[in-house]
Amino acid sequence: MTAPEWDVIVIGAGPAGALAAHQLARQQLRVLLVDKRTFPRWKVCGTCLNGVALGALAQAGLPDLVDRLGGVPLVRLRLGLQQHQMELERPLGRSLSRGCLDLALCEAAVAAGTVLRMDTEATVAGPCPGGRQVRLGSGGAPATTSARVVLVATGLGSPGLTPAIPIRSQVQAHSRVGAGCRVEAQASGYAPGTIHMAIGRHGYVGLVRTEAGDLNLAAAFERGHLIAAGGAAHAAAGVLAEAGFEPVPEAAAAAWLATPALTGRRWPPASERVLLLGDAAGYVEPFTGEGMGWALLGALAVVPLVLQGQSQWSRELEQQWVRRYGQLIGSRQRLCHGLAFALRRPGLSRWLLGAVERWPVLVTPLLHPLAGSSLNPPLVAPCP
Ligand SMILES: Cc1cc2nc3c(=O)[nH]c(=O)nc-3n(C[C@H](O)[C@H](O)[C@H](O)COP(=O)(O)OP(=O)(O)OC[C@H]3O[C@@H](n4cnc5c(N)ncnc54)[C@H](O)[C@@H]3O)c2cc1C
Repeated sequence: MTAPEWDVIVIGAGPAGALAAHQLARQQLRVLLVDKRTFPRWKVCGTCLNGVALGALAQAGLPDLVDRLGGVPLVRLRLGLQQHQMELERPLGRSLSRGCLDLALCEAAVAAGTVLRMDTEATVAGPCPGGRQVRLGSGGAPATTSARVVLVATGLGSPGLTPAIPIRSQVQAHSRVGAGCRVEAQASGYAPGTIHMAIGRHGYVGLVRTEAGDLNLAAAFERGHLIAAGGAAHAAAGVLAEAGFEPVPEAAAAAWLATPALTGRRWPPASERVLLLGDAAGYVEPFTGEGMGWALLGALAVVPLVLQGQSQWSRELEQQWVRRYGQLIGSRQRLCHGLAFALRRPGLSRWLLGAVERWPVLVTPLLHPLAGSSLNPPLVAPCP
C-alpha cells in the first residue's frame, strides 16, 4: 500500500479553491491546485468584492491584496427599473477584475508552497488506501494521482465527480442563466465607483468600472428570453433601455460568455474524503455581490476539517461540513431567494424600489455585508 501522493488536491483555482490552497499550504500540507483554464482568464462576474470578501482576505493574511492591485472603491449603488432611477450612497466594497484577482490569489497560494497546475482538467475518482484518486487530463494521456482529502471548487457547471460519488446536482426550476462581457466603453453615464444595476422584466444587468477602466457587464436572463432576444448582447440592450440607462454600443460587438443555470446546489456537499465549496456547493441569484464572499468564507472554514481529515476520515467530518456550510451561508442565500422572487414580479419590484427610496433603512439588511470588512468570529486556524 502506498500513501496518497498529496495531502490535499484542490480542484478549481477560483477564489474558493485558490484561497483554500493558500491556507492549507500555510499549514504545511502538500497541496496540489489544478485548474482547467490558464490564468489570467476572464470570468462572468460582477467583479464587486463586498465587506465579507475583503474581511476574509484580511483574515487569510492578504489584507492589502485588493488595494495593491488597484481595486476601485465602490461608494454608490444606482438602481434603474421601468425608466425610474434611484441612488444610494454608502461604502460597498471594491471592484477588481477577475483576471487580476484570481491570478493574484493563485500566486499567493504558490508563494505559500502550493504546487499549481493550469490547463489541467481533474475528475474525482474512487477511493484508495487512506485517500481519494483524482484523474488529471491536460492534453496528453490522463494521469492518476491521489490525496488524503480532495476539495472540489469547480464553480457552476460540472463538478468533475465520477457518477459513483453520491453527490447530486439540483438545479432550481426556471433558474436564470448568467452572461457577461467586458468593454472599453466611453459611455459617460457609467462613472467609476458606482454599481449600476438595471432591472428588466426578463433579467437584469450590472455594470461596474474595474481597475483598468473597462466597463464590466454581468447579467442574468431567463433562458427563453435570451434565445428569443437573439443573444446576450440584445437581451442586455433591452434591459438597459427598459431601465432608462444609457446604451453601451460597444457591448453589441463584445465577446459575451454565458454560464449554466445560476440557482442550484450539490447535495450533500460532502462525501468520503471529498468536500465541496464555493459555487460548486451551491449558488443563488440574484447577484448581490456575495458569491466571492461565500467562496472565500468557505475556503477559510474548510481548513480545520481538512486538517482533521489528514489523520483519519469519518462520516462526522462530512456532517460537520454540511452544518458549517449552512450556518455560514444559508441565511444569506435564503435572502437572495426572496429577492429573486421579488425581482421576477414587476409590480412588487417597483413597489420595493419606491419603499427603499422613501425609507433607505429598509435596504440595510441587504447591504450590510457589502460594507464593513470585519468577520466575527475569526475563521482562520493558527499557522504552525
Ligand atoms: C453574472 C454574475 C455576476 C456576479 N457578480 C458577482 C459580484 O459582483 N460579486 C461577487 O462576489 N460575486 C459575483 N458573482 C458570483 C461569483 O462570480 C462566484 O460566486 C465566484 O466566482 C465563485 O467562486 P468559486 O471559486 O466557487 O468558482 P469559480 O470562480 O467559478 O472558479 C471555479 C474554477 O474551477 C475551474 N474548473 C471547473 N471545473 C474544473 C475541473 N474539472 N478541473 C479543473 N478545474 C476546473 C474553472 O476553470 C474555474 O477557474 C456573480 C456571478 C455571476 C454569474
